[in-house]
Amino acid sequence: MPFIASLILWAQASWCGTDEYMKKVHPDWELRRLLMEAAAPIIEAQQRTHQPSCTPSRYIIPLVFHVIYSNSSDSISYERILNQVLRLHEDFRRIPETPGFSSNGADTEIEFSLATKDPNGNPTRGVVYWRYDQPPLNWSSRDFCRETQDFSMKQATGWDRTRYLNVWIVPRLCVQPDPSSPCDQCNSVAGYAFYPSAGATQYGTVLGSAFFWGGSTPRAGRTLVHELGHNLNLAHPFQDGCGTSNCSTSGDRVCDTPPTAVQTGNFSVRRQNTCTNDSPDLPDNMRNYMDYVDDDDMTHFTAGQRARAWAAIQNSSWRLAPLVRPTVPQQTGTGPYGLVKAYFAASHTVGCPNEPIQFFSYSMGAPHIFEWNFSGGVPDNPSASCPTVTFSSPGVYDVRLIVENQSGRRDTLLKTGYIRIEDTVYTLPYAESFERTVFPPPHSYIHNPDNSRRWERFHSTSPPRGAYGASQASMRLLFFSYGSYGEKDSWITPRLDLRPYVNTSHSIQLKFSWAYACLNYEGQIGSYTSYNLDYIDSLRVYVSEDCGRTWTLLWERGGRDLATHPAGCIAAQGSISGTAQFLPTANQWATDSILLDAYKGKTIKLRFEGVSGWGNNLFLDDIRVDTIPALQTTLSQPAAHIRAYVSGSTLYLSVPHENLPMSITLYDLLGREVWQAKENLSSGNHAIALPTSFPMGVYLVRLETKGEVMTLRYWHNP
Ligand SMILES: [Zn+2]
Repeated sequence: MPFIASLILWAQASWCGTDEYMKKVHPDWELRRLLMEAAAPIIEAQQRTHQPSCTPSRYIIPLVFHVIYSNSSDSISYERILNQVLRLHEDFRRIPETPGFSSNGADTEIEFSLATKDPNGNPTRGVVYWRYDQPPLNWSSRDFCRETQDFSMKQATGWDRTRYLNVWIVPRLCVQPDPSSPCDQCNSVAGYAFYPSAGATQYGTVLGSAFFWGGSTPRAGRTLVHELGHNLNLAHPFQDGCGTSNCSTSGDRVCDTPPTAVQTGNFSVRRQNTCTNDSPDLPDNMRNYMDYVDDDDMTHFTAGQRARAWAAIQNSSWRLAPLVRPTVPQQTGTGPYGLVKAYFAASHTVGCPNEPIQFFSYSMGAPHIFEWNFSGGVPDNPSASCPTVTFSSPGVYDVRLIVENQSGRRDTLLKTGYIRIEDTVYTLPYAESFERTVFPPPHSYIHNPDNSRRWERFHSTSPPRGAYGASQASMRLLFFSYGSYGEKDSWITPRLDLRPYVNTSHSIQLKFSWAYACLNYEGQIGSYTSYNLDYIDSLRVYVSEDCGRTWTLLWERGGRDLATHPAGCIAAQGSISGTAQFLPTANQWATDSILLDAYKGKTIKLRFEGVSGWGNNLFLDDIRVDTIPALQTTLSQPAAHIRAYVSGSTLYLSVPHENLPMSITLYDLLGREVWQAKENLSSGNHAIALPTSFPMGVYLVRLETKGEVMTLRYWHNP
């Protein structure tokens, strides 16, 4: 497809024409932007959980599309308009099980709604078709020149800016590099938008038709997501390069988008860290909707961008505030008076009999009527937007949602075989070493919300690379090739039965082995340096008492703390070759254990979650839940007379007032005594070296003096 290839090459310099055009329209743009920043209250980004929530759209913004066309190939059908609006909804609301979902992203709680009433209150489909060579446009060519025609086109066609956000789609978008040259750079710019501080006659977005949903380029569908981001006052993450150390007043003025020196050269995602002024120093994340990558590589807005967009909407002197007035939806036939589209997802889709599953409606069009059908599952409230549902018997269940809003419009979404209820409960001991070829092993399952890399079985015979002996198989996540940050992938165990152990003195222990290396990378991208950085991934272990609806974090480790490779991170420079990929040898595995005594009397599931940081590969093996002899020691509160902590392999003790005889005993997590020392400690501070010859793992230190006992737990990493 040579046409597309040359188009991409051509478009490199300025795919989105917003920045350069702002400078053209307002020669004092930098000053204006600073004033605009001063006026915009920056709401501190709330650190929200990434769990799904039952949140209706906070702001609904009416949209009208003006399609300017010359023939059928550059016109845009109503069906394409609808699909584009759905893509907006999925992306801005981060809807699970759609391409708009990312574990790393934020739900902006902003909805764009296609107008169904025109400025006179008459029915409309929210799309106005204008022939380029007919009144009121009368263009001599189908090519639209941004520099000379922006104002007149918007004046001639735009709808009331206090009630509609106008989007124009032109047959070909052309730009004029400078006033003396012809306006002949066509399709080099995909679209451009005005910030909400713009004049009413300028505000809105203009797109070339090739870049609209269903268009002929790899950036057809999310160009509008990006440009509407500008309309919401979001800048490019590479705005002003790295900026200063103050992320709220420099760069893109958003603190959770890592500063980025320059846009990606060829719209492809790569590991890079072009700025070091962020703390902690994070890699550039060009998968943001406001960066320059192809549609398929874009994944998210951040919580900080949401806060900035909300602040822009709330600014009463800007263009957005009038659009979200309470009277506007009825006048424009949007939100509850507009189109509806049913969307839903569940907290988890593999459940147990009589254990509730939470459903969430993400439907478009502010519906107030919800008619659910769970094929026999019983909801707590069948007309709620987010009901909790119990299924009493094992089986596979369809789920259907019908929604209706104030306009009387209805929509139905049916997900066939969506819920699987299993009643299998495994008794202890439970052991999984992935030696069987079936993966995931029976009654366990994979959660891969971004449909990208996932946990997979890894089998290697020569040499065997499992966690122990001649073990040939393990489970792995290829973070080396994942290509993104903050995405989560889980393997979830079958349900395990801890009910028989309530009155036993035995402890219950989860033991598992892993192997990991992070990746340390630096390189050169054209004239930009990708500064030295550890690219780190994480492993988390969770437990659920309610069959997967809610999870409690038990264990977390990442980066060099997770690494079992002797170097911690494997180093790479320049272009990264496959030899930097981590493959564990037999002695590069570590084992840890977690006590599950708190869950005696219950049935539990365990979840092993990998969090991507585009570092290096993570392997997991030899997962075992079993009873062990009760531990000799339990954790206790610090004794009154002594204060102590362990750092590295040193025990720090502070002894007040008097000389104390001190017995120091070390236990491993199986409760075995592995070391002991007796000291007479004078009052004051002491640093006592603990032995370093033990394998990596969790150890307990028991301190005993004059009848007082204190127990500390520490992580030993030799
Ligand atoms: Zn842009």
